[in-house]
Amino acid sequence: MSSIITPRCHLLKPHHALSTTTTIPKVSTSDQSLHSTWSHRFWLTTGCATFLTPIAKSLTISLTSSSSFDLLPPLCASFLAFSIADLATGFYHWSIDNYGSSSTPLLGSQIQAFQGHHKHPSTITHRHFANNLHALGRAITFTVLPLHLAASDNPTALAFIGVCSGCIMFSQQFHAWAHEKKSRLPPVVLALQDAGVLVSRSKHAKHHRSPYSNNYCIVSGMWNEVLDGMKVFEVLEMVLFFKLGVRPRSWVDPSIEWMEVEDDDNMVVMVD
Ligand SMILES: [Zn+2]
Ligand SMILES: [Zn+2]
Repeated sequence: MSSIITPRCHLLKPHHALSTTTTIPKVSTSDQSLHSTWSHRFWLTTGCATFLTPIAKSLTISLTSSSSFDLLPPLCASFLAFSIADLATGFYHWSIDNYGSSSTPLLGSQIQAFQGHHKHPSTITHRHFANNLHALGRAITFTVLPLHLAASDNPTALAFIGVCSGCIMFSQQFHAWAHEKKSRLPPVVLALQDAGVLVSRSKHAKHHRSPYSNNYCIVSGMWNEVLDGMKVFEVLEMVLFFKLGVRPRSWVDPSIEWMEVEDDDNMVVMVD
């Protein structure tokens, strides 16, 4: 019985799997698809404006207040937002790593990108800044504005919305830094990684090793030990499998779906 309910058990044949392997096109490191376009820069700018505006508004309201204690709730909300952002990236990363395909509505390109990332992890370090962040910038632009308007002039809510969406938007940059060579990272980034403020290279490297089913959080990684220790994703995968018959990609033989393809320096994978 225990073998039947063991997650990722290879006894369960993938008849009902909805997840499919996506063909990953190869491109050169000098390929234009890794460069930033004006469209990428536009969405990066609108995304930054969307999360920076509520932060600036929160700071203005708090700093012009008569009591210095008024800064405390927005500061606490900012830390909570930073933590929730890490958790959110974990659930999102787990879902697109394991379910859907390139033809999935809305998320198809993201799913293809993350599958490509597992085949060629270092490609993310070759992507230009706006190229790497534009998809999340566009998503933040459309989703955060209504929340900002709903928060009105509440500095605590504004701080939470701004910091949480900013961390989610920049999670792809934190992720890229987790793949970068130590010698090529700015000292401040290295210090933040070592302090656990940003997801570290060593911890994220575990996500790219068998069994390819842990360390999904990519802001600070503060939730990884909790989620992995409590087997949260394994339980969710089992629930989805037994309720819907959907098999996550991480149950499939790692040599087929997840294993890194040896990168020759001139051939990388297009990720978006
Ligand atoms: Zn992944
Ligand atoms: Zn990665």
